[in-house]
Amino acid sequence: MHRNTYTIGIDIGGTKIAFALIDSEGTVREDKKIPTNLSGGTEFIQNEIGKQVNSFIKKYGSSIMGIGLATPGYIDPVAGIVKNAVNLNWKDVHVVDILKNSIEMPLPIYLQRDTVAETLGEYYFGAGKNCQNFVFLGIGTGFGAGAVTSGHLLTGFHNMALEIGHLSVDEKGPPCACGNVGCIETILSGKGLVNRANELFDASHDPVYVRMKDSITARQVLRMAKAHDPMAEELMEKMAKSLGFICAVLKSVIDPERFIIGGGLGKAIFNKLTDAVEKEMNARVFKMDDQPTHFYKSSLKTSAMGAGAMVWYFNNILPNSLKNKNE
Ligand SMILES: [Zn+2]
Repeated sequence: MHRNTYTIGIDIGGTKIAFALIDSEGTVREDKKIPTNLSGGTEFIQNEIGKQVNSFIKKYGSSIMGIGLATPGYIDPVAGIVKNAVNLNWKDVHVVDILKNSIEMPLPIYLQRDTVAETLGEYYFGAGKNCQNFVFLGIGTGFGAGAVTSGHLLTGFHNMALEIGHLSVDEKGPPCACGNVGCIETILSGKGLVNRANELFDASHDPVYVRMKDSITARQVLRMAKAHDPMAEELMEKMAKSLGFICAVLKSVIDPERFIIGGGLGKAIFNKLTDAVEKEMNARVFKMDDQPTHFYKSSLKTSAMGAGAMVWYFNNILPNSLKNKNE
């Protein structure tokens, strides 16, 4: 009987940090979430993140193969540095070195952008399992994408391939937090949806909508759309059109077998919007009716699974979840 091996996945987000200890079948053996301390700096990484990793080390010891760290922002995975993560308040943080120095056993630590990690998580354990060509689209607080092409992670020269949330697609579009206008994120994200709802409600001059302004959440807009509220439906239609346009661009450039839609908002709108997204995409691309690109909903149980999947990918070890069961 072969010995079980594990990886530790850590997904560091703006509000919480998700930890998971995953076995090579993709089963989450242990998981935990702690709030992100945005003002804690390097000490927070040493004390809180290091502490959690050490508790896994104590229990699983040498069966742990490595650690995958996923963070938002602009990172240097080779040097192990988060160069700029606005949501974390991190600039030039040597997160890999700091963590290495605070854990009780030497382990390889891999750092990647969160969307890249999620893409690998889908590839090994989720909706991208056994698929050599797919695009992952993460629609959450922000918007990001990743891709596996011919069985390889698409990284690009600066590790920024498919970091398209701040690609400006409408020169007359709304202002974005990054300083530009008409970024994809101004429509396809939780923040974007709330901002667009506020604008629309304000312009309606209808006291019912104007009252909701400034306190509306993305979740509320979804609930209203479900109840066929005309303004919420207009907002959903806009999202579907934008997403369909982005998928048309990516389909033309990458030619994936499937699109996987993830992120909190992405999963919440999946059932309602997929038909409209597909229709919009197909209206904009070269007709290949015999070779359709299908849409799948992300099936990862925790975002930390993607971070854990990095250890297998960068070590060139196929997890059991992908091995031929007849071998
Ligand atoms: Zn932007």
